[in-house]
Amino acid sequence: MTPASTVVSEFGAKRVEAVSDVRPLRIAMLSIHSSPLGELGTEDTGGMSVYIRELSRELGRAGHCIDIYTCAGNRGRGSKVLLSENVRLIHLGIGHSGPVTKNTLFRHLPEVFRALEAHITKSNVCYDLIHSHYWLSGELGGLAQNRWYMPHVIMFHTTGIAKRVACSQEREPAMRLIAEKRLALKSDRVLAATVRERDLLMKYYGVPAKKIGMVPCGVNTGRFYPISRELARKELGLQDTGFLVLYVGRFAPVKGLARLMSAAAHLRSHKGLRLMIVGGDDRQTRSLAELRRIARRSSVEDIVRFQGRVEHDLLPLYYSAADVLVVPSYYESFGLVALESLACGTPVIATRVGAMDVLIRDEKTGLLVDKPSPRSLASSIEKLMMTSSDSRRLREEIRSSVLGYGWSNIAAAVAREYATVLRPYSS
Ligand code: UDP
Repeated sequence: MTPASTVVSEFGAKRVEAVSDVRPLRIAMLSIHSSPLGELGTEDTGGMSVYIRELSRELGRAGHCIDIYTCAGNRGRGSKVLLSENVRLIHLGIGHSGPVTKNTLFRHLPEVFRALEAHITKSNVCYDLIHSHYWLSGELGGLAQNRWYMPHVIMFHTTGIAKRVACSQEREPAMRLIAEKRLALKSDRVLAATVRERDLLMKYYGVPAKKIGMVPCGVNTGRFYPISRELARKELGLQDTGFLVLYVGRFAPVKGLARLMSAAAHLRSHKGLRLMIVGGDDRQTRSLAELRRIARRSSVEDIVRFQGRVEHDLLPLYYSAADVLVVPSYYESFGLVALESLACGTPVIATRVGAMDVLIRDEKTGLLVDKPSPRSLASSIEKLMMTSSDSRRLREEIRSSVLGYGWSNIAAAVAREYATVLRPYSS
């Protein structure tokens, strides 16, 4: 039997009993620019929101109390929503009008900190630690660390330097990079989801290895499971489709959607092949118009379908209906969609970004693309097309390769990281 103090150190296919002997903690999660209740797939709402929601739920289930603070969304100042057992979402309304976005938030940070301080004082709550997400929330966590001598764990999800290295189209301000370096060095612990991220933090921000805790992101294996392809296609009205290539995600240039569209042009001769693109929202009409233009230019309009944003709960149908998910990104901080697809038993073709080369077993559960030109993406899709099978056994094999990434395992590992941070404070 697994002892109660098991440290979760292995993921992947391994099922590790998700237990943790960390005492119940009160945790303030900071997710200031993006709400965990936001619309996934839109501009500022993606994997980080899923991460915070799922991690908090599991921590809550394990007996920890979590308050998630946000300024995003249009709930009233100080409003609280009970998200799940022991997990509250608290909206820090601030005076300025208009939506809070990544671009507007920085200049309002002092005001947000005052709102946070006022809320904490009024509710007389005492947190064991702050866990901040993304550099903007990190700024607040840093202030709390200074002012209240509160342990501060930071997770960047994406760093400016990683985006700059990976994709010159993404303009990250120097100020962000400077702030991230300062926060990484000052915080008590930095959590990284991939070795790539850890290496960048060490190389460019000078963060010592021993300060970085490595915990991957997870997948809700109860939500993402294989559904028969036939049934899923029927539900989605896709009975006439042949080989279905799926993309799921935001429309940021870093996601490499344009090169996937160009790859589709090389596959035109395959009758029945379809490319379905899930994600995006109204504010992204410019990106959508540009993608439509590329589709027109590449003469693939008739095989590409823009599905728009899909509710998270409905995505298992899409992954199950597809023959393959393609992640053509220049950069991913982790790449949750790949994990979700694999949990549904659908193979993934991906560039070597984020956690792809850890999640995908090359030639077994998908294909890794070394030179991600449209042509090589297309030949990987063709290769998979030749060997593609809808056998239940294969789907179960693909799924079982990622079962160890269930959120209870991930939450237990994060709780261990918290314990590491708290040790010096309690002595
Ligand atoms: N997502 C969704 N509906 C959509 C598009 C995306 O629910 O229409 C979710 C998707 O299931 C995943 C997340 O948004 O959980 C995207 O996370 P990922 O790590 O792949 O990318 P990020 O947005 O963090 O760059």
